[in-house]
This record gives sequence, C-alpha cells and structure tokens, in this order.
Amino acid sequence: MTEENHKAGFVSLIGKPNAGKSTLMNVLVGERLSIITSKAQTTRHRILGIINSDEFQIAYSDTPGIIKPMYKLQEAMMDFVRHTLKDSDVILFITDLKERFDEEDALTIIKKSNVPVIVIINKIDLAKDQEEVEAKVEEWQKRLKPAAVIPLSALEKFNTEGVLPAILEHLPNHPAFFDKDTLTDKPQRFFAAELIRECIFNEYQKEVPYSTEVVISDFIDEPNIIRIRAEIIVERDSQKGILIGKGGSALKRIGTNSRKMMETFFDKKVFLEQYVKVEQDWRKKENQLKRFGYTN
Ligand code: GDP
Ligand code: MG
Repeated sequence: MTEENHKAGFVSLIGKPNAGKSTLMNVLVGERLSIITSKAQTTRHRILGIINSDEFQIAYSDTPGIIKPMYKLQEAMMDFVRHTLKDSDVILFITDLKERFDEEDALTIIKKSNVPVIVIINKIDLAKDQEEVEAKVEEWQKRLKPAAVIPLSALEKFNTEGVLPAILEHLPNHPAFFDKDTLTDKPQRFFAAELIRECIFNEYQKEVPYSTEVVISDFIDEPNIIRIRAEIIVERDSQKGILIGKGGSALKRIGTNSRKMMETFFDKKVFLEQYVKVEQDWRKKENQLKRFGYTN
C-alpha cells in the first residue's frame, strides 16, 4: 500500500427516524465501534464510528434525521443537514421498504449536494415478495438517481456485505484523517451521552431535543456493572418540565430506553442515574461549550 492509494472520508447516514440507521451502523462498524477517536467528540457532527484498515479509513456520522421544516428550529436542522452533506464524501440514504417517503425538499437538498448517494432499502425481510423489493429499487433509482441502490435487511444481516465495497468505490484517495495509532482509546462516555441524546430525540418533538445537552459526569466501569451518572441540561425551566413529564414518566422512559441501549452497546449491565438541570443560554457560554466539546 502506498500513500497514493489510501482512501479516507466521511460517510453520512441519513434517513427518517426508524429507517434502521443505528441498526445498519452496528452492522457496518460492528465490534470495531469502540475504535473512535476522542477528537471526534469536538464537533457537532455526530461521529458514530471510525473503521480502519491499511487501505482505508471511514468515519461514519449520523444526522438527526430528515424532518420536514415545519418549525423554525427544524429549518435550522435542515441547514445542519445541508452542512453535513457538504462535509460528506458519501451519503448512505437509508429508507425502509415500507416507509412512505414524501419529503421531496429533503431529496432536493441531497440531489443538489453532488455527493455520491448510496440508497439503502432496509427491512427487506418484511417484503411480501421479490417484486415488491424490485419495484422499490426501481422507484429509488428514478427518484434520486443514486450511485447505487442496495436492498438489505440490517436486522437479519442479509445482503449487507455489499455496502462497504460500494462505499469504497466512491471514497476519495486521501490520507487518514485520524491518526490510526491513537484510535484505540474508548470514549465510552461519549457513546453513553449519544445514546441518551438519541432517546431524547425519539421521545420529543419540536425544540426540546435541540436545546438539550447530555453530560456524563460519572462513568464507573466495575467488573459486573457500569455505573453511569448523566446530567441532562436544558435551557429553560419549561423545557425541564417537558423533559421530566407528568410524574416523571417521560424521564423514566428515556432512562429505561437508554439504559437498555447502553446494555446492548456495552454488553454489560448498566445502572443509570439521570439528573435534569437548567443552565440558561448554555449555548452562549464559552466555558460550557468547551465542556461539551464544541470548541477547542
Ligand atoms: P433509526 O431510527 O433509523 O436509527 O432506526 P433503528 O436502527 O433504531 O431501527 C428502528 C427499528 O427498526 C428498530 O426496532 C429495529 O429493530 C428495526 N429494524 C432495523 N432494521 C431492520 C430490518 O432490517 N428489518 C426489520 N424487520 N426491522 C428492522
Ligand atoms: Mg438511530
């Protein structure tokens, strides 16, 4: 291998909530998910995992889904998606075989981005017959004119082996972005925080997820259990109320869901304590931004 034929780049997973992005991510990165640089935490770009070989380095990142810009903040999120696309070398557009996708504005943004798109038609284990899958493949070829369309089942790990070669075909020749030798540290706190964030995104609409930060203040990895203390930080009392829910019900759901996800992720029992704190205008405070890792 020479420097010249090493490939490296950023691959963004986009798609509607529930399309199967996280499941596919687990398949693509698999056990190597622990291989992620702590440097990746310093950006709002959610880097989910980096995989390396002598020949390539792929940094996968997730966008907070494609949402119709019905609210101002969602417009901001679309802007964010736009920026993410600009920073991507390859887009994995994940769609569910059964999903109704009529977010044409999102497709327009993707088409305009000029980034190679690989459409993943997920959940083909739910297809009633081969024709249904073929019709979907054809539909997406027409709609998005992507570099490739791959029908698969992330859950059943069926037909997933073609994804990596398809990505590599479109990844530019580039030296590694992240030092391969320093990729061995495990910012498990980062993953714990991301899993909670994901549950918050799933639980709430509108502005709450976008005004929320998660800080893991304790991460104690004992032989049989990981004890995690998480601070969920919002900007206003009203958001705190929404987050906690009636009688604490919403926060409890987030706690249960994120704990289960953590247990799967870390393959270990997890004890999770959550606290909700209000820090007014945390976005504006330089020192806090630093703490959250948004600036260097
Ligand atoms: P995300 O919101 O896009 O990250 O989607 P997830 O990966 O969390 O998956 C959403 C749901 O779809 C979960 O219940 C998954 O188990 C399920 N799912 C993901 N991939 C498949 C698949 O290939 N087949 C089926 N039947 N279900 C799947
Ligand atoms: Mg997900």
